Amino acid sequence: MDKSRVVHYLEERASDFYSLSDKIWENAEIRFQEKQSVQDYVAFLENEGFSVTVGLAGLKTAFCAQWGSGKPVIGFLGEYDALPGLSQKAGVAEKESAEGNGNGHGCGHNLLGVGALMGAVGFKHYLETEGKSGTVVYFGCPAEEGGSGKTFMAREGCFNQLDVALSWHPNDLNMMPPGPVLANDSIRYSFTGKASHAAAAPEAGRSALDALELMNIGVQFLREHIPSTARIHYAITDTGGISPNIVQAQASALYQIRAPFAPELADLYERVNNIARGAALMTDTKVTIKFLKGTSNTVLIPALDEVMYNNMCEIPNPVEGAEDMAFALEIVKTQKAADTIIENAFNIKPMPWNKAGNMPLAGSSDVGDVSWVCPVSQCGTSTWPIGTAAHSWQAVACGKSDFAHRGMLYAGQIIAATAIDICDNPEIIETAWKQLRDKTGNQPYHCPIPPEITPDLLEAETT
Ligand SMILES: [Zn+2]
Ligand SMILES: [Zn+2]
Repeated sequence: MDKSRVVHYLEERASDFYSLSDKIWENAEIRFQEKQSVQDYVAFLENEGFSVTVGLAGLKTAFCAQWGSGKPVIGFLGEYDALPGLSQKAGVAEKESAEGNGNGHGCGHNLLGVGALMGAVGFKHYLETEGKSGTVVYFGCPAEEGGSGKTFMAREGCFNQLDVALSWHPNDLNMMPPGPVLANDSIRYSFTGKASHAAAAPEAGRSALDALELMNIGVQFLREHIPSTARIHYAITDTGGISPNIVQAQASALYQIRAPFAPELADLYERVNNIARGAALMTDTKVTIKFLKGTSNTVLIPALDEVMYNNMCEIPNPVEGAEDMAFALEIVKTQKAADTIIENAFNIKPMPWNKAGNMPLAGSSDVGDVSWVCPVSQCGTSTWPIGTAAHSWQAVACGKSDFAHRGMLYAGQIIAATAIDICDNPEIIETAWKQLRDKTGNQPYHCPIPPEITPDLLEAETT
């Protein structure tokens, strides 16, 4: 059986998957609250013959579904969390909230999770009909937005059994990532001093604001001595008050540190912490360092990306036949200058693949942590018209449209075909692991989330 039969099989079964994706869109559950979405996935996967385990790595809404046995062991990464405050009616080309819980699928994770599921089901169909050995593992990964679900899962070894993992992300273009996403940490530094009258009893006061200012100055000097591709940003979130005649007893700042290579970030994190401790020592105040979240950079694996890119080029893009192109053009108009004439809402052809992978992308993803544990490849396919940004009402409005469904089908077909190629050519796995070892300098995965931070703590903080 060649790959095109699996491509066809997924097309024939497409409506089952479209309804699951629509259900997840309706649920629109945000990080750590994806209970109904998980139930819908579990019912679907059990019906497909997978054995499902719900609750992984201390995350109640993470799950894993397995079918088959033996090598290769291929993982399929799915997401299903929505974003708060992005409620929007489907199929409407103007901003209009929908009935419901106020959340919206602005990052297209209703499509993401189901597209990856199509890849898993397509690959299972191949193994089953060909009688080949192989293990299909679908991972339900919660809280990608602000919860770093996969980072916790990677820390607890959920992905250790995999030969490779595959995924994708909804996009406005069909493309392989031109570069990695950066590793990223968010930390809150809170200083505590002693209040007193700034004129009458300055000697009794210890200024938390002084400490915070000294910390920021220390970090300015640090910037000269960090890798030029790293970034440190901050926002002062508490100045301690508005009265200059009171010594400020508390002050805090939120820091974000980014670097293209996770070990560099781990080093920078400690250096910034030391500056904060030094500022507290200088001012006789106390500092509390609260790690909020962190993800690793993605390690690109050209040996896998090439296989996925070739499948993207070979498989006909079904978006071309979508029945709601007029709506897609309306969406384009909401984002472009009125005098710009756009005739086609979609670029059907894949963008050329930047094999060098040397154009880093802004933003971060917890897929980065999986990519340190096993070789990962992920593509983007156009589920949104050209120019549509993620985390916008436009992306939510498109989430149940025919063109979005078809973009998801395309992603599922590409992922299934990639898994088949990997299964039939096991030397790809060997090369992929060699590339992973080379690119990480053979360093083991170091989880950016400190061991004392549990999902429960983060859950309490963010929900
Ligand atoms: Zn997002
Ligand atoms: Zn996303």
